[in-house]
Order: sequence, then structure tokens, then C-alpha cells
Amino acid sequence: MSPLIGVLALQGDVREHAEALAAAGADVLEVRRASELDRVDGLVIPGGESTTMSRLLGVFDLYDPLVARLRDGMPAYGSCAGMIMLASNILDTRADARHLDALDVTVRRNAFGRQVESFETDLEFTGITDLPDAAPMRAVFIRAPWVESVGDGVEILATVPSGPATGRVVAVRQGNVLATSFHPEVTGDHRVHGYFVDLVGTA
Ligand code: GLN
Repeated sequence: MSPLIGVLALQGDVREHAEALAAAGADVLEVRRASELDRVDGLVIPGGESTTMSRLLGVFDLYDPLVARLRDGMPAYGSCAGMIMLASNILDTRADARHLDALDVTVRRNAFGRQVESFETDLEFTGITDLPDAAPMRAVFIRAPWVESVGDGVEILATVPSGPATGRVVAVRQGNVLATSFHPEVTGDHRVHGYFVDLVGTA
């Protein structure tokens, strides 16, 4: 049976994630209320604007239920703003922005700076591009964060291979929680979503 995977649908590129998850074999539910959150086996937090998403989690009474499900071990995948939401520590955000504290990393918002605010690169992704005959992954960064430091138990899955940000960490996993700085939902390459569907299936 396919897992039922939610996409947090308060703000951001919800539809692209829903389509990528469906293409990767999941059943998909857009999540705007706690009763919907209760039903899903895992949750994607999309790209968008993390401070806005933080505010809307409060408006929709979803913050506490979401923190509770994450503490309980619900698998989650955050891309870009979603990575920021999942992190335990955020640099360069608003003082009143709340986050979910589900991933033991320090993330810097808008880290790549003006000149490379948005860019694309091919990168290696542990567990995906190291499979036999696998191609590198096209990664699209849009005012993206990077992971500045990781705690024990956090696995680094991808780094920037070249250019001014060489070596910066842009994909991580800790147990059931996965995060990427970039947006696999916009490239038509569904391998990251497939990785998450598998993770949810075995959780
Ligand atoms: N810069 C945005 C933020 O801080 C994230 C950008 C994105 O999700 N594409 O939330």
C-alpha cells in the first residue's frame, strides 16, 4: 500500500511537491488543519517563506500539533523554507519567527548572498546518485539557506561541489527527518521525493 504523505499547504510551492510525491508513488493530502495532519504517515514542508509559514502555523492552530507529531517520530521532509522550519537553530531570521526543532542543525537563511541568490548546479546526493548508473542531481537554489553546522547523529547527504559556496552543506538527514536547501520539486527529477516515500514506507 502507498503511504499517505501530507504537504503542509499554508504557503509556498505546495502543488509542485504534491505532484512530485504522486509521481514517486505516494498518496498525497494537502494539510491545513490538525485533523488532516492526524491522518498522514509523513509530511513535506515546502519551499516558500519561512517567517510567513511560521506565522500561519499559529493562525491555523497547527504549530503545537505539528511539534507533537514530529516529537513522536513522524517522518518529515523540508525543502528550502521547509528546511528552515525543521531546524533547531536559525541564523538571520526574525526574532518572533518560530520553528519546529526537529533537526539538530544550525541553518543560515538567505545564506548564498546577493550575487548567487538563485543558481543551479549538479551535485552528488548520498543514497541516490551513488546507486549504480545514477546521474548527478540538478539542484535549484532560490534564496536558499545552507546548513552551517550539524549535531551528532545528523548525516550530511549533499554539499555544493564548486563555486563560491564550495563545500557548504545543502542536504541532511537525522533519523526520519530529511531536509534540502534546494528544490527538487521544480526539476522533474523525483528521486529525492522517492527517497522520502521509501523512508516513510519503512518508518
Ligand atoms: N528565503 C526563504 C526563507 O527564508 C526561503 C526561500 C525558499 O523557500 N525558496 O524562508
